[in-house]
Amino acid sequence: MSSECWKCGDTAVIHRKYEGKSWCSEHFQEQFESLVKDTVRENDLFENDDRVCVALSGGMDSSALLLFLVELFEDWKNAELIALTVDEGIENYRDESIEIAKELCDDLGVELHIASFKEEFGKSLDEIMEDKDYGCTYCGVLRRWILNKKSRELDADKVATAHNLDDELQSVFMNYLKGDMKRMVRLGAKPAVIDDEKFVPRVKPFRETPEKEIALYGRLRDLELHQTECPYVEDSLRFDVRDFLNEMERKRPSTKFTALRAFDKLLPVLEEKFSEEDPSIRSCEECGEITSGDVCKACQFRKEI
Ligand SMILES: [Zn+2]
Ligand SMILES: [Zn+2]
Repeated sequence: MSSECWKCGDTAVIHRKYEGKSWCSEHFQEQFESLVKDTVRENDLFENDDRVCVALSGGMDSSALLLFLVELFEDWKNAELIALTVDEGIENYRDESIEIAKELCDDLGVELHIASFKEEFGKSLDEIMEDKDYGCTYCGVLRRWILNKKSRELDADKVATAHNLDDELQSVFMNYLKGDMKRMVRLGAKPAVIDDEKFVPRVKPFRETPEKEIALYGRLRDLELHQTECPYVEDSLRFDVRDFLNEMERKRPSTKFTALRAFDKLLPVLEEKFSEEDPSIRSCEECGEITSGDVCKACQFRKEI
């Protein structure tokens, strides 16, 4: 392994096995940013006059995404950025990351909005979990519900999330293992999920970027690291898949990129076959958000808690 930058000969901060090259801090950052810009351009993630809401958790991935987009939009005079943090109400875990989110938005001059489970559902996640262990799936449903509702209220044209290459590929394999083809077609950098004015489209600029490289980029850009893991984390299938993919990548560098590219070739075919124009899409009787039944999942769950 070479410890010198392939481009300038300075001390390398990373060796990318998948391309057989090492990079110094400056050239790694340049590479990183240009790769994400490629993802943005090739997938037409943004329009010139978009108002984009960044889903900011205070974790490294979303902090790096906000920083990247602030710099990208410097040249896009009519584009706007805001940030939205969902406070699930998890003591010692979420509090710290919200502080990080606030500081970052202060530094970058981005307007931050905070929406909470307590306000929207009457209970924090800690209180919900006290009654019964509902697990990550429910929390995810509630979080997505808030994200959509709030970003629409904030007039956002799009929600940008920090899903990276590892997240995306794990989801591909998980859906495959579960045989969930409908969920499979909801993946992609700019998923064509629901064509409804109530739905704020989601985009994933980091979709082709490895998690490790985002962490390195964040460190090199002096972003604060919040390392604690959510105490309720439980998705064991995701962890199994993650370990499997990491092992494959270790043995056969560039496996992850190859697998994602293969999926991207399949996606249009899958979309044609599995994404039905759902005629049953309508407004939830309880909250008015979009749903495919009479009452949306978040409201069903809200009744339960
Ligand atoms: Zn260099
Ligand atoms: Zn509802």
